[in-house]
Amino acid sequence: LLGAALTDDTAYRRLAFLTDRIGNRLSGSAALDAAISWAVKEMQSDGFDAVRAEPVQVPVWVRGAESAEVLEPIVRPLTVLGIGGSVGTPPAGISAEVIVVSNFDDLNARAEQVRGKIVCFNARFTSYGETVRYRGAGASAAARLGAVAVLVRSVGPVSLHTPHTGALSYASDAPRIPAACVTIEDAETFARMQARGERVRVRISMEARTLADALSANVVAEIRGAERPDEVVLLGAHLDSWDVGAGAHDDGGGCLQVWEAARLIVRLGLRPRRTIRVVLFTNEENGARGATAYASAHRAKASDHVMAIESDGGTFKPVGFGITAGPRGRSYVQEIVQLLAPLEATDLDTTGGSGTDIEPLGKLGVPTMGFRVDGTHYFHYHHTAADTLDKIRPRDLAECVASLAIVAFVLADIKERFEQ
Ligand SMILES: [Zn+2]
Repeated sequence: LLGAALTDDTAYRRLAFLTDRIGNRLSGSAALDAAISWAVKEMQSDGFDAVRAEPVQVPVWVRGAESAEVLEPIVRPLTVLGIGGSVGTPPAGISAEVIVVSNFDDLNARAEQVRGKIVCFNARFTSYGETVRYRGAGASAAARLGAVAVLVRSVGPVSLHTPHTGALSYASDAPRIPAACVTIEDAETFARMQARGERVRVRISMEARTLADALSANVVAEIRGAERPDEVVLLGAHLDSWDVGAGAHDDGGGCLQVWEAARLIVRLGLRPRRTIRVVLFTNEENGARGATAYASAHRAKASDHVMAIESDGGTFKPVGFGITAGPRGRSYVQEIVQLLAPLEATDLDTTGGSGTDIEPLGKLGVPTMGFRVDGTHYFHYHHTAADTLDKIRPRDLAECVASLAIVAFVLADIKERFEQ
């Protein structure tokens, strides 16, 4: 499997087609439908024992045109990228003074000054989990205090004037106000202006809107197990992406990693004891409906899932895995990952490992693993127009494929099974 993965360029060529020719794939878009049809068709030609699309209803958010400008203290264009799920502005846009806050405590300390203003959250990137809260919950926190819109510093450690999108969720107890990301550069500029006592005013205009739910699908392909076909090792990633860039790292690369890992097992004529099931989930980015639909459709057979593995951290040099499983499972996998020594990807984080798309399975008692890669540069590109194929090294993709193929095959083939 290692040799096959490192000498076969099928995954990279397919990732190039997905990103260059289909492009980005937001839920409800024609491009996501095209990606689903393409994946099903290609998988059917790969020789899997079963390929199907399992239906999922997904939310549909449409960005529409968006623009902004700084009105004071100078006049200039302002780069913005609306946050997924945001409402739009009135057709004339919203013009208001900006108040910059560095975190939620700072917002609350200035509660009296927020009414009628645009709140700019300028939180420095610490970890994704911590910093993404401003993108997800900033709009409602500011709206409760009377803000008319929010601008959120893009969630990443560095920037070449790159705005990031992502999802927000509106709280039920706050008015729904428009929310967009600005670049790190502009958030810092506004903070400097405010610190000098300069009044900052901007105009923002967004056509964003939410339409009725649409039909989408999880793409599923299987290698039927030779001895215990009902027992499943699941390999998952998500086929949808944001509507900027090409969704190369997030998560087109992950899709090709798990797909190719299984395809190579077929190509080499290997048949493990248990079934290996590849799932390309839909709607991870703005709803995780693919994840919940899979778990509810397969709820009765959840206990047949021996392990669910997800790749959604980009396509970089593999590091290892994280695992959520009982002591026996952890010790088996600890041994299995030693097979990845030639790739230096043997690191097993036993404090936990999962992902958005397999989390519902984890809640049903399925042991889970998250594939880990070198994340140094991931949040430079994540959810931006820069998430394109040129950011992926073919060798890294091949090493990811090899890691997943080896671990999935052995987990599907070992005699014993273990509990969560
Ligand atoms: Zn992702």
